[in-house]
Amino acid sequence: MNFSSLDLAPVLQQAIDACGYKKMTPIQQQAIVVARRGRDVLASAQTGTGKTAAFAVPILQQMLNKPKETAPGTPRALILTPTRELAEQLATNIANYAQFTDISVTALYGGVKLGGQASKLKAGVDIVISTPGRLLEHMTLKNVELANVEFVVLDEADRMLDMGFIADVRQMLAQITSAHQTLLFSATISPTVNELAHKLLKNHQEIRATQLNSAADTVQHVMYPVSEEDKIRLFKTLLAEQNWYQVLVFTSTKEQADKLMAALKTSKIDAAVCHADKSQGARRRAIADFKSAKLQVLIATEVAARGLDIQGLDHVVNYNLPYLPEDYVHRIGRTGRAGQQGNAISFVSREEERTVERIERLINCKIKRISRPDFAFSSRESLLKTVRKHSKNSRTNKASQTVIRMDKSATKTKPKAKPKAKRTSK
Ligand code: AMP
Repeated sequence: MNFSSLDLAPVLQQAIDACGYKKMTPIQQQAIVVARRGRDVLASAQTGTGKTAAFAVPILQQMLNKPKETAPGTPRALILTPTRELAEQLATNIANYAQFTDISVTALYGGVKLGGQASKLKAGVDIVISTPGRLLEHMTLKNVELANVEFVVLDEADRMLDMGFIADVRQMLAQITSAHQTLLFSATISPTVNELAHKLLKNHQEIRATQLNSAADTVQHVMYPVSEEDKIRLFKTLLAEQNWYQVLVFTSTKEQADKLMAALKTSKIDAAVCHADKSQGARRRAIADFKSAKLQVLIATEVAARGLDIQGLDHVVNYNLPYLPEDYVHRIGRTGRAGQQGNAISFVSREEERTVERIERLINCKIKRISRPDFAFSSRESLLKTVRKHSKNSRTNKASQTVIRMDKSATKTKPKAKPKAKRTSK
């Protein structure tokens, strides 16, 4: 279904044409029609599905239907999102969709001074996109007043719940006294998201554009069993052999990110790190350099990379598996975007094997295992089988001591083999 069939305001259609969108993505097909009628929506859509236009287009269309003077400190639409990067990204995209209208858009987030944001709010902004904490600060300072908000979007609601923002969010939304439409978007629909939806939404329509909690089906999932200490070597080997153009790497900790960064630097690979210890400026520069393809590798921790929209990203590497299977879905949302083919590559240590099963259950798909003799894969798998067999036996014949010894010997790695090929430069 094409956007042109929606009969949108010409200024909106013109912007969509300028963005190069023709066909709607599945979430857009379902959400736009319902939301432009003013109905509350609960939508399950992960990053990369075109969800921003799915909520922004119907809001912009309704704002254009009922034009209003922009008034100081009283936005018409409020979009709450968990991280600064996501707030910036949403603001850029929505400003694009609104580029031929008089509707103004601004992003508010922490880590930068309040003054500049306060001046913009006082001058008058129609659509405010904010992280919860920063909005609360502006509300306390009376820079913004929510009483007359007409449209509310909770973006990545599951993440806001995980990050403990929801009490603040509910407190802020309670300030809205006018009738308003609420659109709740979440990559995963957990019982807590459902509970939140029932508290915040009225007579809502539920939309599930993708299979529940599934990862984008344009993504190929593979995993390499590898010991923790061999992960850097595996990463460099794959980078060289498979000649990845650009890759986003997720690590669980800042320390792992820094360690990998140091190793890549030694090999003269263009890379940068994006984690919470880096200043906002450094993070922004790293993302900009990665987006403009100056960097081949961007290493990021979960929170720092939340919702990153990097066009045409072919490869996402999970240097570590995330603790929560839902986070796997979030992470790999950076690849296989808007119909393009992507690759999600996970490095799995023995300790992470159990998480694989949980992820496979969630995405309802078996992740392809790639055996690398030079990374001690085969011995590991056969040992795992033995360990499982023994642990079954141990329940009946109390052979748990043997299991423990087997487990320890399994952690021994083979002597390191040299990478087969060097990365060919582009
Ligand atoms: P989002 O999920 O909103 O972050 O969007 C993911 C990416 O898809 C962004 O780069 C959008 O510009 C792009 N996009 C959104 N909708 C469409 C569409 N209908 N056709 C092509 N690209 C789109």
